[in-house]
Amino acid sequence: MRWEGQPARQELMREERAFHVANGRTAMTTLERMPAWNWGESEHCVQFYETEEFLLDALADYVASGLARGDAAVVIATEALRSGLVKRLQIDAWDVAAAAAAGLYVALDSAEVLTQITVDGTPDPARFDEGVGGIIGRAAEGGRRVRVFGDMVGLLCEQGNIAAAIRLEELGNQLRQTHSVTILCGCPLVGFGREDLATGMGEVCAAHTRVIPGESYTTLGSAAERVQAIALLQQKAQALEAEIAERKRIEATLRESRAALKRSLQMRDEFLAAISHDLRTPLTVLRGQAQLMERRARRGTLDAETIAAGLKQIENRSRVMAELIDELMDVTRLQEGEELPLDRRMVDLVMLVQDVVAGQAEAVNGCRLALDTTETELIGRWDRLRLARAIGSLIGNAIKYSPEGGTITVRLTRETGPSGDCAVLTVQDEGLGIAESDRPHIFERFYRGKNATAPGVGRGLGLTGAWQVVAQHGGAITVESQEGSGSTFTIRLAMGPSAP
Ligand code: ADP
Repeated sequence: MRWEGQPARQELMREERAFHVANGRTAMTTLERMPAWNWGESEHCVQFYETEEFLLDALADYVASGLARGDAAVVIATEALRSGLVKRLQIDAWDVAAAAAAGLYVALDSAEVLTQITVDGTPDPARFDEGVGGIIGRAAEGGRRVRVFGDMVGLLCEQGNIAAAIRLEELGNQLRQTHSVTILCGCPLVGFGREDLATGMGEVCAAHTRVIPGESYTTLGSAAERVQAIALLQQKAQALEAEIAERKRIEATLRESRAALKRSLQMRDEFLAAISHDLRTPLTVLRGQAQLMERRARRGTLDAETIAAGLKQIENRSRVMAELIDELMDVTRLQEGEELPLDRRMVDLVMLVQDVVAGQAEAVNGCRLALDTTETELIGRWDRLRLARAIGSLIGNAIKYSPEGGTITVRLTRETGPSGDCAVLTVQDEGLGIAESDRPHIFERFYRGKNATAPGVGRGLGLTGAWQVVAQHGGAITVESQEGSGSTFTIRLAMGPSAP
């Protein structure tokens, strides 16, 4: 079975030694560095490996030492491994063809065997017994011991099918009860290159009687080098665990920001749809007035009164449109985090609030809206339009988040302090109130409370704009609220001609 005088193996080993010396390493071949395994009578080992070259060296040693003592060899492996093994055995002077003819060397394709013995991706005991068991039974004829090598577990692990790999190992262990076999499984470490496969790797190890680590550890020359390697591996494991924890944290943050971005885009779209609708209403009135006047002019019935009323409507609606466009531009500025270009003039807040309250009178939705103040005037340098919009938002919200018939009270007072007088406006309602968890966020862009999620009810921008306007006036806006019993929003603004 073995040719004598085959010099090729020695030649190759000489070349490998020379290569190691040229690269500053000890003059030992990989095979010489590997610990000589003392294969027991009925072992079930797993050989982890980093390169196929290393696995082939280990496999050739395993098969050759078995053949040398009269054992049969059953090799279930990929084509690459099978042909690599044959070359090595031949270099080592084994007549593989003769061994095969004598039933001492059986080689099978692992992918094919796997297909034969699995049902729905899981190894089936009956098929395993019939297929693998049958082959081993024939090789063991005459009381021969059999050395089996298989890389099917490696294939399954590479496919991420750890459960099937473990099942296969269990069947392999059962085989050892009935036959005198030693089994060696080849498992590429690359198959476990994911953090979540650590448990699977532990299970694969536990299913074997002996575990042989990959070559970066196994081929280390001395015990001291191995201890050092273990320490380095522990350090790497620590660093990796820390990195994984960090990666998971970053992933969670990314997921949150992606969800927030999606929410904000959706709200922006809703806002754009709503403002387009708001713009269309006055536009319809404008067109209607123009058509009416044109028709009457054609018929010769256009009198001065109709013209005056029509122009008044056109003027009013154009102003509403201009305000909406200004609001839209402010929203864009708020989105960009830009300051609003305040147009500050001397304004009487009492009159301004009276106007805003009167403007909301038609839209109170069955609520009682009242202004409660004893002040006759509260003068400051403020942006009339933007302040009106901010106060309008507070009153609008009070109406929106109140039940029908609820009472909304707007109060205006003057506070006298050491650094001058302050105008204080409060808007109090008896509505939904704001949950404690929402309160810190309601001034954020597009944020809507959990009890205010009905579609089309709001845009999550009113309070952001109000906060920005008040802050740019050097003032403050605060809220006190109890979920279920109402909210009170307060705006404080410094008064007088020199207010900040
Ligand atoms: P929206 O268009 O959703 O009303 P706002 O920016 O005006 O947007 O308000 C943000 C959130 O603050 C609202 O979605 C709601 O949850 C809460 N909120 C504001 N005012 C009130 C109020 N008066 N009563 C209850 N909740 C309110």
